[in-house]
Amino acid sequence: IKGVTHAYKTKAGPLPVLDDLNIAIPEGKFCAVVGPSGCGKSTLTRLIAGLMFPDTGEVWLHGQIVKSPRKTVGMAFQNPVLLEWRTILQNVVLPLEIVAPGMPKRQKEARAMELLALVGLEGFEHKRPSELSGGMRQRASLCRSLVHKPEVLILDEPFGALDAFTREDLWQTMHELRAEEPFTGLLITHDLRESVYLADQVVVLSGRPATTQYVMDIPMPSPRPINML
Ligand code: ATP
Ligand code: MG
Repeated sequence: IKGVTHAYKTKAGPLPVLDDLNIAIPEGKFCAVVGPSGCGKSTLTRLIAGLMFPDTGEVWLHGQIVKSPRKTVGMAFQNPVLLEWRTILQNVVLPLEIVAPGMPKRQKEARAMELLALVGLEGFEHKRPSELSGGMRQRASLCRSLVHKPEVLILDEPFGALDAFTREDLWQTMHELRAEEPFTGLLITHDLRESVYLADQVVVLSGRPATTQYVMDIPMPSPRPINML
């Protein structure tokens, strides 16, 4: 993210949100972005996914400037949006139906099952989302965001709505997923402990409009959450 500036056009005039933002995430690394509510973190995720474009500056992904929506970005949010009329397995294969329509159904399902097993959801693949707990739904949503091996995984406060036990369980799962298949990622969070535990790099945004205030490298993500419950 190079010198990104962005303002929303509102009826009251332009609302500057991001000002000269600079973030470099090396391939295979996980970057956490922390900052006060309303500072433009979700806006940043939309710019990376190519759902919006910056006023000035550039978003680069794998040597290319993002100029259109990227199907190859994986996203998961605080409240996982799972399709209630589809089973968990059918939800998880969804990105493959879009990115790899020609892939045989069995192969798509095998890939989805691989991830569901990794997050401990084997046996739940034929259930509907409404039959799962919040933590399980978030696990399913994580599988869906990873099933097509995204070039970048964007997690926008994915664990915010979960209780502390489930959250720390999912942190562990994140480490297991990364050990199994390393991915490049951006994690938006309000939880500093989470950022230090999960990320290789923490970026602090602040100011109005927000800018890169502070970048901290975490030498090696800690193998266990600090003050584990
Ligand atoms: P939170 O931590 O609460 O999720 P955030 O850092 O993700 O906040 P954004 O959602 O990116 O913040 O919003 C940044 C600013 O831009 C806010 O002032 C918000 O009101 C404004 N904003 C967000 N989306 C739009 C939009 N579509 N049109 C106009 N203004 C918007
Ligand atoms: Mg947000």
